[in-house]
Amino acid sequence: MNLILMGAPGAGKGTQSAKISEKWNIPAVSTGDMLRAAVREGTPLGVAAKSCMDEGKLVPDEIVIGIIKDYLSSDKCTNGFILDGFPRSIPQAEALDAMGVKIDAALSIEVADEKIVERMSGRRICSGCGASYHVKYNPPKVQDVCDTCSASLYTRDDDAAETVLNRLETFHKTTEPLKDYYAAKNLLICVEGREKVEDTTAAVMSALAKFEA
Ligand code: AMP
Repeated sequence: MNLILMGAPGAGKGTQSAKISEKWNIPAVSTGDMLRAAVREGTPLGVAAKSCMDEGKLVPDEIVIGIIKDYLSSDKCTNGFILDGFPRSIPQAEALDAMGVKIDAALSIEVADEKIVERMSGRRICSGCGASYHVKYNPPKVQDVCDTCSASLYTRDDDAAETVLNRLETFHKTTEPLKDYYAAKNLLICVEGREKVEDTTAAVMSALAKFEA
């Protein structure tokens, strides 16, 4: 299965992408995670991306298109893949089509704006393995410690309240039109993002069941 995961920032794409990846045994790639790693390592790509990310804006298309092109041409993707956070604009979707990659579905996780703000203020990320938690909806067993690798959890810089509002605006303006783009190709599946992670996972798995061999 070649899957695109869409949704507002904080809708739960990363969390659901990890669940789908585990169940289907296919790799998930998050452009956001790759860009954050580049920023941490101080690579030229990271330096170019950092100011856009800090302001809650999209990184230029050519940067993310390059990252995805490299990834999709690697051996890892031969049995399928999940794209978490790409494409995020119509030009990015067109670039993906131009790569000749067949997409089976574009799954959109739908969450209202007011819920997004609450979710992002409680989001915590593992400094070791990148796993995502929420202080209320998906807490770790021990406060601020990752269940999987025991590293400490932190709050992403771009989850600050003002940046979240910018990211939501960018989402509605630039990314949401992709729903029509994929609906026109009969690839769009919408799932309601619920308060409990497991409820959203159940809805996601049932929406994807038709792709099981
Ligand atoms: P995410 O972790 O998916 O929320 O992404 C965090 C930030 O990385 C976004 O706010 C953007 O600045 C940048 N980013 C991630 N994916 C893309 C993309 N496909 N196109 C442009 N910018 C992106």
